[in-house]
Amino acid sequence: MASTDSVLKPDHGTKQKHFIFTEEHERLRESISSYVLKELTPHAEEWEKAKWFDSAVFPRMGELGFLGLSYPEEYGGQGGDYFCNIVLAEEITKAKCGGLAMGIAVHTDMATPPVHLFGTEEQKQEYLVPSIKGTKISSLGITEPDAGSDVSGIKTRAVKDGDEYVINGSKTYITNGHRSDYIVLVTKTDDSAGYDGFTLFLVDMDLPGVIREKKLEKLGMHASDTALLAFQDVRVPETAVLGQVGKGFYHIMWELQGERLIGAAGCVAGAQQCMDQTLKYAMERTAFGRQIGKFQVTRHKFAEMATKIEAARQMVYTTAWRFNNGEYPVREISMAKLYAARIAVEVADECIQIHGGAGYMTEYGVERVWRDMRLNRIGAGTDEIMLDVIGRSYGL
Ligand SMILES: Cc1cc2nc3c(=O)[nH]c(=O)nc-3n(C[C@H](O)[C@H](O)[C@H](O)COP(=O)(O)OP(=O)(O)OC[C@H]3O[C@@H](n4cnc5c(N)ncnc54)[C@H](O)[C@@H]3O)c2cc1C
Repeated sequence: MASTDSVLKPDHGTKQKHFIFTEEHERLRESISSYVLKELTPHAEEWEKAKWFDSAVFPRMGELGFLGLSYPEEYGGQGGDYFCNIVLAEEITKAKCGGLAMGIAVHTDMATPPVHLFGTEEQKQEYLVPSIKGTKISSLGITEPDAGSDVSGIKTRAVKDGDEYVINGSKTYITNGHRSDYIVLVTKTDDSAGYDGFTLFLVDMDLPGVIREKKLEKLGMHASDTALLAFQDVRVPETAVLGQVGKGFYHIMWELQGERLIGAAGCVAGAQQCMDQTLKYAMERTAFGRQIGKFQVTRHKFAEMATKIEAARQMVYTTAWRFNNGEYPVREISMAKLYAARIAVEVADECIQIHGGAGYMTEYGVERVWRDMRLNRIGAGTDEIMLDVIGRSYGL
């Protein structure tokens, strides 16, 4: 409640940004932040240039407990809530290495959640436990050369043969595809069953017939590895089925919700950092005898950016609160993903502009934020697909 004293001056510095976070989350934030700044940020440049971040990051993060923040303790997790994952997604952006953040997010919030939710006890012991330790790295295979947005158009087939399945097909743009020990693979098992003809599999990447074909070159996210993969007569036992046979489409649609929400959280945090860094620059750089930040036009640019970031943040946090409560808010997740991805690109673009020529130089890192952020309007479902999901949710 307001008091006579508290209304004397606006409070711009409050630490508690939203009701979803507790003191415990703030302690976690400090601990992740200090790890990131000490052990990851110093390597960002080197990993960007090498187009590969050190895979040793996984076991180190596992050792620190950061790869299983919301997984049950019985599997080696920390037993926290979903907001812990949001904290990780936000703090890891301090590494200033979008590719690293993406490689970790694919592992913690995209490939392993289906293992946790749909996996058998044996599968959890074999894949989830080592993933939380960071001794097994995961990837997720949905997209194919001929089908991305239209997941139902995939051609990878898994055909039953006795007590095995034989898998044939191709997957592309697979993050962690060159380093992963296993992949959560989306396949078609029954051509005549429509959406009930898809099945997920857990496929070890060292099986005969799994071919890591090509390391794909990209606009940004350089530190992550992106693979074109082929599956040629790959034989897996029936026990490799993840979840229910024929329900893979529904399983993967659920997975995409967490992927989109965590991506949105990363966009907000990345945009905030880019703005903060640019704010500092605008206070230091002078033109026509004054700080460029003091031109009204620049001040208004910051006001626009800050307002958009705040709106996106509130959407992400409130939707995360519903997701954490066990709701399935597909419409709002799509809105948060769409909006956060768009404003992150807009903010990065404006930050380049405020930096002038310096913004175009790699040394300031702002152009990299723009290149990295640009992916978010495509990956995990394009802007157009988000708009379609939102529009259809109104019966259109
Ligand atoms: C760096 C990177 C990493 C990735 N990592 C992974 C990963 O780890 N695993 C994985 O499975 N995938 C991954 N992806 C794939 C990503 O999810 C897809 O690229 C994305 O879903 C879009 O699919 P697409 O590229 O086939 O585009 P397409 O589906 O061919 O779309 C092309 C254009 O058509 C538009 N379009 C398509 N359908 C409609 C429609 N119904 N209405 C209006 N417009 C439409 C799209 O919006 C887009 O503008 C990654 C992609 C990139 C670039």
